[in-house]
Amino acid sequence: MMDERLESLIYLLQRNAIADPRVLAAMRDIPRDFFIEAANLKPLAYADEALPIECGQTISQPYIVAYMTERLNVQRKHDVLEIGTGSGYQTAILSRLARHVYTIEIHEELHRLAVGRFKALGLDNITALCGDGSKGWPEHRLFDRILVTAGVSAAPPDLVGQLGPCGAMVIPLGKTSSQRIALVARAETRVDYQSLIPVRFVPLL
Ligand code: SAH
Repeated sequence: MMDERLESLIYLLQRNAIADPRVLAAMRDIPRDFFIEAANLKPLAYADEALPIECGQTISQPYIVAYMTERLNVQRKHDVLEIGTGSGYQTAILSRLARHVYTIEIHEELHRLAVGRFKALGLDNITALCGDGSKGWPEHRLFDRILVTAGVSAAPPDLVGQLGPCGAMVIPLGKTSSQRIALVARAETRVDYQSLIPVRFVPLL
């Protein structure tokens, strides 16, 4: 039953132009229902919908997770920083593609639940921190890729500053009513912004 729903979700992603086989394989491998606590919502885990989670937050829509992951173009050699762990689903997807994922969540309860899930699934290339991610990772190391899964009006300068050479960041930018995914790319001394599809994310706190 679950397999059938998962297969139709993967089919839907492909129909909606998600083409990177590594992204599709990760979406196949990571059980989304495992990242949803509420028994009444588990049956919806493989529908293409965002769902409410603890602390008034949301687990992102699978298409948006796949889309952002594909745009981020994560390579096996990459260290990735994620802001907004939430359920940990997106983190788990990234962990299948990256060398290491560093993820920050502001809500203690969400952080704790996500860490338990990473452990249970044996995802051992994730380091999770509870705190405010808007200033990036405390040690100010450089990252190859940064993914922000909460909306902001403008890209936080501290995050842009933590992009390594040829680094890229995917982040929802703009007012809630007119938010779009942006691809921020660092090229030598320049930082390029590309505006992509419209979305609606919970705000960065
Ligand atoms: N990728 C997650 C999305 C969760 S929603 C998922 O699919 O489950 C965004 C998350 O960002 C929420 O869990 C929220 O608590 C968190 N968040 C908001 N502001 C934050 C901040 N300043 N630092 C870290 N996390 C933050």
